[in-house]
Amino acid sequence: MALQIKENEILANHCTFRIGGPARYFVIVQSRDDLLEAKKFAKEKDLPFFVFGGGSNVLFSDEGYNGVVIQIKDMKLEAEGLDMLAGAGVLFGQLIIRSIDFGLSGLEWGVGIPGTVGGAVAGNAGAYGHSISEFVKNVIVLTESGEVKKYSKEDCGFVYRGSKFKSPDNHEIILEVEFGFEKGDKRESGEIISDILKKRRGKLPPHPSAGSVFKNIVVDNLGNKDEFLNLIPLEKIKGGKFATGFLIEECGLKGKQIGGAKIAEEHANFIINIGDAKAGDVLELIELCKREVGKKFGINLKEEIIVLQ
Ligand SMILES: Cc1cc2nc3c(=O)[nH]c(=O)nc-3n(C[C@H](O)[C@H](O)[C@H](O)COP(=O)(O)OP(=O)(O)OC[C@H]3O[C@@H](n4cnc5c(N)ncnc54)[C@H](O)[C@@H]3O)c2cc1C
Repeated sequence: MALQIKENEILANHCTFRIGGPARYFVIVQSRDDLLEAKKFAKEKDLPFFVFGGGSNVLFSDEGYNGVVIQIKDMKLEAEGLDMLAGAGVLFGQLIIRSIDFGLSGLEWGVGIPGTVGGAVAGNAGAYGHSISEFVKNVIVLTESGEVKKYSKEDCGFVYRGSKFKSPDNHEIILEVEFGFEKGDKRESGEIISDILKKRRGKLPPHPSAGSVFKNIVVDNLGNKDEFLNLIPLEKIKGGKFATGFLIEECGLKGKQIGGAKIAEEHANFIINIGDAKAGDVLELIELCKREVGKKFGINLKEEIIVLQ
């Protein structure tokens, strides 16, 4: 079936922030062939393309995108022994539930994280001391030149909330991911999941957002580590990381509002859309947080969200 390529599709309708102007072209792909066709279309039009999954970690610009926005929504999900193979467009939550159905365990901590397998692997999504890269065996990608290539986990450049696929220069599209899990117990997994859902429910703001705006601080990577440690409560360092939300809160920015965007009362590392926020409002709040946290703590905050200009 021919691809359905839409023109001037409003990107706010395709992301959890509910922000973003029109994409010159927008297409949903459900297979490798669809993806190749969408890339060919972009090349013929001489336009750039941007690939995404659930849109839960992106801020689309108010002006939209003068190119082809490609959303991956495939459904491939297979299990063999302790391994699973998931298409990039499978919802991360669906992978978690199906892995438990298959009697496997490992990803329970990820319940409640929106988005797709491709987005989670690109950003090395994580929570409660875990990240998805712990369970990745291989990642199958479509390279810029159109070859299909298999990367081992070691080749993916996984770091805290990142990988080589989450760079602005990345032109490799994740097609499928091979995971390795442990043998599980459905009842135990169910208990962990309901525990985590309870914790998340109390913490997350009930408004559109893209999750944590900034990465947490990896204390050992700081050039000014000693000075920083003198400014913060040391007991709040968990797994070598310090919560950026705490720094933003200490700068008195919790609840700060610009236009329709606001630093969430529930979690200061979340910027929420309280109604008709513009990307410009969010970007102003981002700059404000960077400036104030830089002044008070000497920290250069780094965005976790991807801003598509
Ligand atoms: C309420 C809320 C709570 C959240 N909680 C967490 C949390 O606890 N932990 C956490 O880590 N994150 C969290 N997030 C952020 C987000 O859900 C995760 O980062 C998620 O894994 C992103 O997946 P996605 O499919 O939506 O990615 P998208 O937003 O669609 O894309 C994100 C990036 O990945 C790239 N990408 C996506 N698919 C592919 C692909 N197939 N090939 C190559 N690149 C690709 C995109 O180009 C983009 O750079 C939260 C977000 C929200 C809104």
